[in-house]
Amino acid sequence: MIIVLVGAPGAGKGTQAGRLVETYGMVHLSSGDLLRDERKRGTDLGKLADRYITAGTLVPDDVVIKMILGKMRELNASDVILDGFPRTVAQAEALDLALAAEGQKIDAVPYIMVKPATLLDRLGGRLTCRADGSHLYNAKYNPPAVAGICDIDGSPLYQREDDLPDKIKTRLDTYFAQTMPVIEYYRAKGLLREINGEQDIEQVWYDLLLAIGKQSEDPGLLVG
Ligand SMILES: [Zn+2]
Repeated sequence: MIIVLVGAPGAGKGTQAGRLVETYGMVHLSSGDLLRDERKRGTDLGKLADRYITAGTLVPDDVVIKMILGKMRELNASDVILDGFPRTVAQAEALDLALAAEGQKIDAVPYIMVKPATLLDRLGGRLTCRADGSHLYNAKYNPPAVAGICDIDGSPLYQREDDLPDKIKTRLDTYFAQTMPVIEYYRAKGLLREINGEQDIEQVWYDLLLAIGKQSEDPGLLVG
């Protein structure tokens, strides 16, 4: 199955994607990571992307889509989480066409919904590991065992410039302005699965599994 996981910065998308990878062996394809990886490895697509980035323009949709489909083929991945793409309706349409050409389709679009006020609160306290940007903490909700130090590798934690209060609001405004049309696109296709991201992590996880058919309704497993 192919899912597009949608959620604003701070919605907990990364945590939930990580669990899907660990629990179900799904392949997590983040367009940002893919792009960095192709450029680092100096592949043809990576070099092509470099040219656009050097010229200060966006990497065209078809290049990103080629990277995604190429990676899926390379890994022979049948259970895929797309993250960070598509960001626009044009990209969503192009992705649908490219997948259809390979006899594939998007099966579900789980959207982890969190109110902007909550996101502001969460992101405002976010701390990132200097050694590995995927090691994230929150001063209030998920503090490290030792203040200012990563639990996993002992590296110092810092507040990314993006996570400074004045930057967060702009970032969220941009995110919602860009993403709402994509959400409506998938809603119209009957693929959108709205999940209440204000709940605790376990309940979000349970709802996510229900949304993508990995879990059948079992009241015994409901938290709280
Ligand atoms: Zn770390």
